[in-house]
Amino acid sequence: KVETPNDGKNKKAFMFREDEEESKVRDDLKPKLVYRGTDKEIDPNDIGLVKNAEDKRVMDEGYKNFAYNSLVSKRIGFHREINDTRHQHCLDKTFPENLPTASVIICFYNEDFYTLLRSVFSVIRRSPPDLIKEIILVNDHSDDKELIEKVENELETNLELSIVRFFTPEERLGLIRSRIFGARKALGDVLVFLDSHIEANVEWLQPLLTRIKESRTNVVTPVIDVINPDNFGYKPSPLVRGGFNWGMNFKWEGLTKRVERFDEPIPSPAMAGGLFAMDREYFTELGEYDPGLDIWGGENIEISFRIWMCGGRLDILPCSRVGHVFRKRRPYTSTDERGVDTQDRNALRVARVWLGDHIKHFYSAITGVETLSPGDLTERFELKEKLKCKDFSWYLNYVYPELEIPGMEERKGAKEKVEKLNKYERWDQRSRNYTRSFQIKYAPSSLCLEPIDGVGSKGSFVKLSSCLRSKKQSWYQTDR
Ligand code: UDP
Ligand code: MN
Repeated sequence: KVETPNDGKNKKAFMFREDEEESKVRDDLKPKLVYRGTDKEIDPNDIGLVKNAEDKRVMDEGYKNFAYNSLVSKRIGFHREINDTRHQHCLDKTFPENLPTASVIICFYNEDFYTLLRSVFSVIRRSPPDLIKEIILVNDHSDDKELIEKVENELETNLELSIVRFFTPEERLGLIRSRIFGARKALGDVLVFLDSHIEANVEWLQPLLTRIKESRTNVVTPVIDVINPDNFGYKPSPLVRGGFNWGMNFKWEGLTKRVERFDEPIPSPAMAGGLFAMDREYFTELGEYDPGLDIWGGENIEISFRIWMCGGRLDILPCSRVGHVFRKRRPYTSTDERGVDTQDRNALRVARVWLGDHIKHFYSAITGVETLSPGDLTERFELKEKLKCKDFSWYLNYVYPELEIPGMEERKGAKEKVEKLNKYERWDQRSRNYTRSFQIKYAPSSLCLEPIDGVGSKGSFVKLSSCLRSKKQSWYQTDR
């Protein structure tokens, strides 16, 4: 046989060469795949990795329609493990026998299939079966018919989902009227309202039902843990409570009292709205929701006012945790046919019924809001009368004394304020040299910050440990 000379055919271009010497190539010279626009190296196990055009489409559509990454949601699928984010004091709790049963109500408008179903499955798998009467799923006329077919098909074929009752009202109702619709279908003792992009955590339900069993006028919410909309990472929420400003916008607030134990109810002037539990008959007695509120917004403040002022109470239960996808924008418009922002109009309805003379502060907070028409309020005023509700001044005094009343900043005593000013100075507004050092304390606890590697270590991580008058816990500002 004649040997054919090597004519170059077998020569591979450098980049495809199987180089035996490859292992000897210096690491820093190896090509590196990085995320676009960054120099962060791509992790091949990254759950959000876009591998082809279809992936890209799923991701882009998701951001457009749902304001989160549905590629990641799809890859996670129906179930996943999440961290048990409860404080250790919660772990050895026992719950009474014969807890009331729950009807879980989830309303949705245009949700990603996997996100929606994962919400439902998390409830089913992380609740004792005998405590779940039913899951009521209300499709608020989602635009995507394919989604609804997929959901219906899954409900029909998956036995684990037989606890779910699925409804589509005649017309788009908006969040508030959808919830009233769902509540009226419910048969359980307690209503548990949830958003459609949540994941219930371990033993989330029992603390809620226990507290309601103690008194039917106890309304409760879980701690709302944070699910990241870009990668669905699940993070614990710190202990905070709910408040609002004069524009009737909800906001989270730091706790006012030091928490002695991390497993006790935290009274909250307002609820965030998405997730809470309430005795079913009490919900009806107290006037459900105001059905005059459109699409989204204001109902959480309204029901919080009603609960507190009309004889109930509202607490956050730190041992009950449910994750919620916090999005950067709401992926649907909330203006009505007249082009009026429903959020402002809803706020006006709430303010008119509940704020009394304090409504002037609401009018100054949202310019022009008084020119909107709130619609007929007769029934809501009658309800307030019938339930013999207390007025807003009572609420301000007993429930939310921290809300600053414009023009009344001095109400806490001017003298005390002056003294305070002399004593403390904000650390970032340095007008004189600091000669003192301070502890940095996590307010609701008796824990202080200290460097893991000890005093004077540079670049050390920090940790929380019991506050001590020690050098490692002394912090002071330096020039850099
Ligand atoms: N929703 C609804 N109908 C609407 C608008 C919203 O059923 O017209 C649902 C939505 O799918 C979600 C819940 O109401 O499950 C709360 O809405 P969203 O999550 O947008 O509010 P956020 O959490 O941002 O306050
Ligand atoms: Mn939500």
